[in-house]
Amino acid sequence: NFSNAQMQAMDAAHHLHPFTDHADLRAAGSRIITRADGAYVYDALGNEILDAMAGLWCVNAGYGRTELVEAARAQMEELPYYNSFFRCTTPTPVLLADRLARIAPEHINQVFYGSSGSEANDTALRLVRHYWALEGKPEKNIVISRDWAYHGSTIAATSLGGMAAMHGQLYGAVPNIRHVMCPYAFELAEPGESDHDFGLRAAKAVEDAILEAGPENVAAFIGEPIQGAGGVKIPPASYWPEIQRICEKYDVLLMLDEVITGYGRTGAWFAAQSMDISPDTITTAKGLTSGYQPLSALLVGDRIAKTLVDKGGEFFHGYTYSGHPVACAVALANLEIIEREGLIERVRDDTGPYLGEALSAGIGDHALVGEVRSFGLVAAIEIVWDRETRERFEPGGHAATVIRDHAIDNGIMMRAVMDTMILSPPLIWTRQTIDEAVDRIRSALDAAARELR
Ligand code: PMP
Repeated sequence: NFSNAQMQAMDAAHHLHPFTDHADLRAAGSRIITRADGAYVYDALGNEILDAMAGLWCVNAGYGRTELVEAARAQMEELPYYNSFFRCTTPTPVLLADRLARIAPEHINQVFYGSSGSEANDTALRLVRHYWALEGKPEKNIVISRDWAYHGSTIAATSLGGMAAMHGQLYGAVPNIRHVMCPYAFELAEPGESDHDFGLRAAKAVEDAILEAGPENVAAFIGEPIQGAGGVKIPPASYWPEIQRICEKYDVLLMLDEVITGYGRTGAWFAAQSMDISPDTITTAKGLTSGYQPLSALLVGDRIAKTLVDKGGEFFHGYTYSGHPVACAVALANLEIIEREGLIERVRDDTGPYLGEALSAGIGDHALVGEVRSFGLVAAIEIVWDRETRERFEPGGHAATVIRDHAIDNGIMMRAVMDTMILSPPLIWTRQTIDEAVDRIRSALDAAARELR
């Protein structure tokens, strides 16, 4: 048994963290989370923290689910691993694929597995290009993405991503990926421009990019229904229907990245359903197992699947852990929990709307808050220096980092992206949990205001 200080020392000496300034880590030491239960996590110092990020947008069913532990244990005993290569497979990926086909939009009936969202997006990129090659149009291979997109951390996923400063574009990107503006009204809408008009203008940027490249060269458009890691950027209602229309007009495939929005967060199994989008592929991961196992599922629509089967030949792609039997067993048990407990309906009819109301009522008028927005159980708080002009604190998101630290001190884990605070809690949150969260956020904002001004 090691003390917190001993763990921190070993961590700083040997452990390279994702997305971390290591000089900063050495100076301050890591927070070491040792256990969790329900909606709360506990650190090595014994602090109880309400986890408003569901781990990392993933622990949708909450912590302490012995059913998921049991599913993993039983599968490990029966058959810990076998592959799904070369016309071989095991039962749980088959059962899960059948289950996913039934909850996915009607025209989506095929599943390709990986272990992470990044892998699933890699697969998706390769698949759409493979599709057009099989269709005799190998030149149709440009993919259009957006600023502030986050699609993962492999080279292909970072190339799709729209955070140039942090990502693969710096170290060599996959060719033939273009980026356009994202539907972020808070910063990008013109004064007086309606939400509706702004949504259409942001969609028009996609059409312009297609026309500039030539539709005969454009394979697909990829987008998160709600941009998550980029700052919970929720598009106006006019955006996705217009994107759908544009993709159909130019015969461009529509790829949705639902790694965050999938499995209930928006009050439906998929945001495609809550926002009435009809995509050709849906990337999912995280909430598929509620984070209890690494697993991703790329859901593939009938159009692509038909070509893949009809034209034959090998899809030269796959991972050792594609369809891992233990991960798939846990996913099956997790989907069962979500359904049995009515978590999706609860988000849609109760906690989703209530989260928006409670945030607006509780902190909407705070001096540091420029906007509160939410959709289902994902929310953003825009941090501003001046509520009227929307002027920010110093660039680089320092204010949000200060707020995040005060939030942890006040017993709530949130995330800071530039000047935006983010919540993406487990779907088990109740109205009472939301009230508690809003109280803690308000205290954190008050404390931060005293420090920042
Ligand atoms: N897509 C989206 C929308 C994500 O939010 C993430 C992870 N935050 C990924 C892809 C990448 O998933 P992973 O980290 O499992 O590779």
